[in-house]
Amino acid sequence: MSTIGFIGLGQMGSPMAANLIKGGNSLKVFDINEEAVSKLVEQGATAAISPAEAANDVEFIVTMLPNGALVRATLFGENGITTTMSKDALHIDMSTIHPMETDALVKEMADAGFQMMEAPVGRTSDHAIRGELLIMAGGTKEQIEKAQPLFDCMGNETVDCGGQGKGIRVKIINNYMSIALNALSAEAATLAEAIGLEFDAALKVMNGTPAGKGHFTTTWPGKVLAGNLDPAFMIDLAHKDLGIALDLANQVNVPMPCGAASREMYSIARAAGRGRQDWTAVLEQLRVTSGLEPKIK
Ligand code: NAD
Repeated sequence: MSTIGFIGLGQMGSPMAANLIKGGNSLKVFDINEEAVSKLVEQGATAAISPAEAANDVEFIVTMLPNGALVRATLFGENGITTTMSKDALHIDMSTIHPMETDALVKEMADAGFQMMEAPVGRTSDHAIRGELLIMAGGTKEQIEKAQPLFDCMGNETVDCGGQGKGIRVKIINNYMSIALNALSAEAATLAEAIGLEFDAALKVMNGTPAGKGHFTTTWPGKVLAGNLDPAFMIDLAHKDLGIALDLANQVNVPMPCGAASREMYSIARAAGRGRQDWTAVLEQLRVTSGLEPKIK
């Protein structure tokens, strides 16, 4: 059982705080929305009137706020967490914020003698309700070990991302991928409908291919990640097929901004002489274009 100050009781924070209470912990909660605070009090929390009051005399302080500016203000602003927080307590920021802001906050907290780690979460508010979040822990081994019982109340999987600032970096990469994929999926589904396909039939096909499964676990391991660019499916052919899809989309008036940008990735690979390499060579090409050392000779 731990004593916890919890700040930010929104869509995610409310169920996370509720699960910490269910796990037997003692919570002091603060949010600018009084109704959100009242709902947690009904579930056994104590209401605090400021971040400072929530952080006073507790072992952990969790923040789950919309952005980095609010996390900063909650830590260092008037009646902020650091005005009362014990030097033995651990602040865990579970918000999704800019990694450079996390780096700055971790440093400023350390310079002032306070302990901070980040632990952003994956999945949705439904998972938060069920205590099934994926926790991306960025902190020292000792901090993660200390916070683990809290993570176990809020989630069912914790990944040690490899140090301070790494948790929020993984979170941003993960969200980049899933948010961009959502837009690309919308293009594919819209084009499917516009050319007269039943979505279920298209889905059945795509669920069994890299389109639905993603490339990390299907095409990449045996090819670009293994240093092998012998073509299973050539860059030239991928470029041609994307061109057909884009042309078809033009004819039925469906804009395809993600697809158009993707086609140019293959154009760059072709221009660099990779036309007859495997389509996974787009990874190696982008790495090289980005100034990273080539991995495949
Ligand atoms: P939300 O807007 O529902 O909740 C934010 C809460 O913070 C609100 O209750 C708000 O009143 C409170 N708040 C704002 N300013 C405050 C202040 N100065 N002091 C105290 N409380 C304050 O947002 P959310 O969906 O719960 O997301 C919280 C964080 O979790 C965000 O960083 C978000 O990116 C991240 N996240 C969200 C999801 C999701 O599916 N919603 C999933 C993973 C991560």
